[in-house]
Amino acid sequence: MTEDSSDLFGGPPARRVVPVLVPMPAPKAYSYAVPEGMAVEPGSIVQVPLGPRQVVGVVWDGEDHGVDPKKLKEITRVFDCPPLASDMRAFLDWVAAYTVSPPGLVARMALRAPAAFDPEPMVEALRLTEARPERLTSARERVIAAADNGFAWTRSGLAHAAGTSSSVIDGLTQQGVFETVFMAPPPVVAPPDPDFARHRLEGPQKQAASDLLESVENGGFSVSLIDGITGSGKTEVYFEAIAATLKAGRQVLILLPEIALTASFMERFQDRFGTKPAEWHSDLAPRTREKVWRQVTEGGVRVVAGARSALFLPFEDLGLIVVDEEHDPAYKQEDRVFYNARDMAVVRARIGDFPIVLVSATPSVESRVNGDLGRYKPIHLPTRFGDAALPTLGVVDMRRHPPERGGFLSPVLLNQIGKTVGRGEQALLFLNRRGYAPLTLCRVCGHRFQCPDCSSWLVEHRFRGQIQCHHCGYAEKTPEACPECGTFDHLVACGPGVERIAEEVDRHFPDARTIVLSSDLMGVKRLRLELEAIARGEADIVVGTQLVAKGHNFPMMTLVGIVDADIGLANGDPRAAERTFQLLSQVTGRAGRTGLKSLGLLQTYQPQHPVMQAIVSGDQQAFYEREIGEREKALLPPFGRLASIIVSAETRADAETHARGLRQAAPKVTGISILGPAEAPLALIRGRHRFRLLVHGRRNADMQGFVKTMLASGPKPRGSVNVQLDIDPQSFL
Ligand code: ADP
Ligand code: ZN
Repeated sequence: MTEDSSDLFGGPPARRVVPVLVPMPAPKAYSYAVPEGMAVEPGSIVQVPLGPRQVVGVVWDGEDHGVDPKKLKEITRVFDCPPLASDMRAFLDWVAAYTVSPPGLVARMALRAPAAFDPEPMVEALRLTEARPERLTSARERVIAAADNGFAWTRSGLAHAAGTSSSVIDGLTQQGVFETVFMAPPPVVAPPDPDFARHRLEGPQKQAASDLLESVENGGFSVSLIDGITGSGKTEVYFEAIAATLKAGRQVLILLPEIALTASFMERFQDRFGTKPAEWHSDLAPRTREKVWRQVTEGGVRVVAGARSALFLPFEDLGLIVVDEEHDPAYKQEDRVFYNARDMAVVRARIGDFPIVLVSATPSVESRVNGDLGRYKPIHLPTRFGDAALPTLGVVDMRRHPPERGGFLSPVLLNQIGKTVGRGEQALLFLNRRGYAPLTLCRVCGHRFQCPDCSSWLVEHRFRGQIQCHHCGYAEKTPEACPECGTFDHLVACGPGVERIAEEVDRHFPDARTIVLSSDLMGVKRLRLELEAIARGEADIVVGTQLVAKGHNFPMMTLVGIVDADIGLANGDPRAAERTFQLLSQVTGRAGRTGLKSLGLLQTYQPQHPVMQAIVSGDQQAFYEREIGEREKALLPPFGRLASIIVSAETRADAETHARGLRQAAPKVTGISILGPAEAPLALIRGRHRFRLLVHGRRNADMQGFVKTMLASGPKPRGSVNVQLDIDPQSFL
């Protein structure tokens, strides 16, 4: 019934009813009545009662008819905040449908800054009046001179500018020399200047930039894939696209895989655009987060550099997304809503009808195939910029040059470390394993230390004197005696972690300054400082996990040694070879960023493995062709599709029974098959037993429809049973 017709019958006008998405795992929006006099539209951010609580929600699309508004609760208030735009709402709906997640949970990702829904408070400031004090001291004179430009000043800002204490200013204010005014809050970052400091592009960079600019300036949706070795100038090239977008008056989002550690990126951006981009990641202080969120929606912030969650920021007018290191597994979120930010960024660009740029030295096989097929526009940068030579790469065959007993570094690598340090240069030893040793056992009875809550060994962290579980964080003091047989001093560490490699390095090079870089040893701030110190040359040998692989520039780093190049190859993951190739290329790419001659050495027991061969020969093309061929044969992504269903419960039997029930409920569909249930490789995490089902479909299969039917007609999770759905899984553990 419309308002007019109800007036005809003389009753009060019917209240409007609108759907409101609340940030809960509910399957759809709830209906609420709009109180008389309140103006809401789709996208309005509102507060609504939900049970005993008040929660924030978003008015969604469509009007609800056929619900009696009298039975509904009313919206409590509308926030004074720009509504979520229609393309943002369409995007959130799309993500929910694709990932088969409750839309409310997806909308929640766009609303992660509650205090930002109210406008930022105005800031109190002082402005000079005509009045002058009776007595002029030199401090007072300085204050007046500094403020005599018509601008309003904050009290502390003025005190600072005039080099006085704030009490001088307070005295003047009391005498009417200053009046209090209110100003808009300061921006979190100054607006970037697209022409601040352009580099002149050289060689192939010119062609790459003009290809890219063509897409960006044409506007509309397009995907470009910049593929070029580390140091070829990919960043310089996409900076051109950013500048063009800024000139067109639109906002830019740069996604980075490990934002908390990319201080060097922020500085480069500043060198180019005169100011830093706004940052967005989980380590931001809540106040800053709120300011950034608000200024992004209002358009004050022009460029955001952020982790995957930045994709859900409600930009006022987003005109370009850059996904740097597009192949990085960190773009996959595996929690609540399982999504791949790289893929969803492409969707966001398509819905918003603007260009997106994917960037990598080692693109994912998926993106590479899309480039080959012409779905993405390939932009290639084949050579390093300037005199930066690529490192010479070689394998160390560990069967022929084994380490000495109890060690993990072959004499070949040790010899090179000695030479490098002797020349006053730096060496990096890479091992993707935190701690001292991945397994501890008792030499007398064979007892192995295992996590009580997970199916994983406890990892010894000698610096801390603890053994720890890397899945749940369980830790205990490293015992002196075996808990099984009671024997003292017979516990042995098996295998290396970075701490153990550092110990070995110390033994061989006692005079070198050796540092271990690993996320468990320090917080993000410390890590940033350590990375800067290394870049300044304040360490000779760095032993690090994959943290060091990401985007840092160490000018004196001329040797990179991969301690165990085989580590990721045998884990049953269909992307194992690709991942190893990407990680090892990235790490060896740390060497030779300047004119110095540099070397990368891979310790391996399989020197003939295609991954080792591809890296050493530099023949990326051959590697991709082979890998793409294998995927095509096995109909693995992107030639086929996968979805994982992970069932967990407090008992093994409950998890298994539920998983079997789901399997039985699977519809019969040609082109889709289902594997399992099988106990997950990580069968127990935090005391929960896990079973996995893997759904495999042809490229055009309706995976979501299949899975939804299966979940709807299968058993409902009861008791401790939990079911997680992962479309396009990256992890198979
Ligand atoms: P990539 O992103 O491919 O690793 P970068 O864009 O970081 O490459 O470039 C590598 C280094 O070379 C950077 O220090 C960058 O400032 C410098 N560089 C690249 N192209 C130019 C150029 N045209 N003029 C000046 N410096 C450049
Ligand atoms: Zn554990």
